[in-house]
Amino acid sequence: MTDLYTKQERTEARKELQDCLTGVRWEDEMIEDGICPNCAGTGYQDAEDEIWCDEEQDYIEGNECDGWGIYGCDEGEMRGASWVEILQYDRKQADRKASLERYDFDTAVNEVAAYAKHMEDPRLAGQQVKIDYPHLGRYERTKVVTEGMRKAGLLKEDFTIWAFMEDFLNHKKN
Ligand SMILES: [Zn+2]
Repeated sequence: MTDLYTKQERTEARKELQDCLTGVRWEDEMIEDGICPNCAGTGYQDAEDEIWCDEEQDYIEGNECDGWGIYGCDEGEMRGASWVEILQYDRKQADRKASLERYDFDTAVNEVAAYAKHMEDPRLAGQQVKIDYPHLGRYERTKVVTEGMRKAGLLKEDFTIWAFMEDFLNHKKN
């Protein structure tokens, strides 16, 4: 698979991240996600969106956060944190790879059949499959859900909900 980022972009981003990390775990977790540790993502100094003002005798808007180290704060997000996109991209790629490795059509169908019965809205099964198997395209996902629903005996009872899925599959066949 081709990499979205160049070697140089990765090297620079890694260096910038290393320079920024503090060794304090909660701070570093925020930094990796590009959340400003100074305001814990709130955008306000000391994470207080309202502060008491003696002069006004009332609560007023808190002070805006002035950022973390050399990084400014944009409503709680670190401005110009080069590594965030790359780390998220890598995480997504790793998820897809793991998903591809564990995926088995029959197992996935059985999973859907098992949980769809207990779902208030069986349409949510599609979202669950998307979460469990992010590498699947729409067509394969629909196939898994439709088969799972059929197995659970839900397809006939609620044909109207699933009609669009059948339409989609028929359309694909033709
Ligand atoms: Zn901040």
